[in-house]
Amino acid sequence: MTAVEVWHNEVLGMGVCAALRKNGFEAQYVATGVEALDFIAGFVKPGMKVGFGGSMTLKAIGAPEKVRALGAEVLDHDAPGIDQEKKLELRRAQLTCDLFLSSSNAVTLEGEIVNVDGAGNRVAALTFGPKKTIVVVGSNKIVRDLDEARDRIETTASPMNNKRLDRPNPCVKAGTCQDCQGATRICRVYQVLYRRPLFSNFTVIVVGEPLGY
Ligand code: SF4
Repeated sequence: MTAVEVWHNEVLGMGVCAALRKNGFEAQYVATGVEALDFIAGFVKPGMKVGFGGSMTLKAIGAPEKVRALGAEVLDHDAPGIDQEKKLELRRAQLTCDLFLSSSNAVTLEGEIVNVDGAGNRVAALTFGPKKTIVVVGSNKIVRDLDEARDRIETTASPMNNKRLDRPNPCVKAGTCQDCQGATRICRVYQVLYRRPLFSNFTVIVVGEPLGY
């Protein structure tokens, strides 16, 4: 990244953190994914159960490997070689884990966190259940408002997730959402966290470089 890009990501990221704090979240700006991983590592203890919300961001920074190396049990339904029954079991276990790690589809300059899920296990865990929640968002997830969040989901996040998951939905051909109506549609549960959910212990790490999609 150029110096100007670094500056812009930092200014926007700091602003988002201030807005998130106003909305009751704990928020921390870090410049890189490596720093985000160090921050997460500070919460991981041997033997604890750590759930993952199907996040490309966390995979990009090596979070599952790090958590495992620190002696925690990883609950990741997206890991390779897991059958459908086990995936469902892991999704349920994430709801009561010690630490839930996720990214988000978009975070607004007003400090709102926006997500779209297929099954809804990620948004459920982000709302209630885990003892501690950490959401990591790269600079590419920052948007002005809820309208832009929806645009981002429809033009970037959802089509790319469809492609990653090899779903036969029209966004894979078009590259943008076509509001499909079939059984394979993955966009089913829409969530906006306007404020920190009651009873949650919720930290957002805003990273000054693009991560995930
Ligand atoms: S609603 Fe359908 S077409 Fe739109 S992004 Fe989701 S799966 Fe793709």
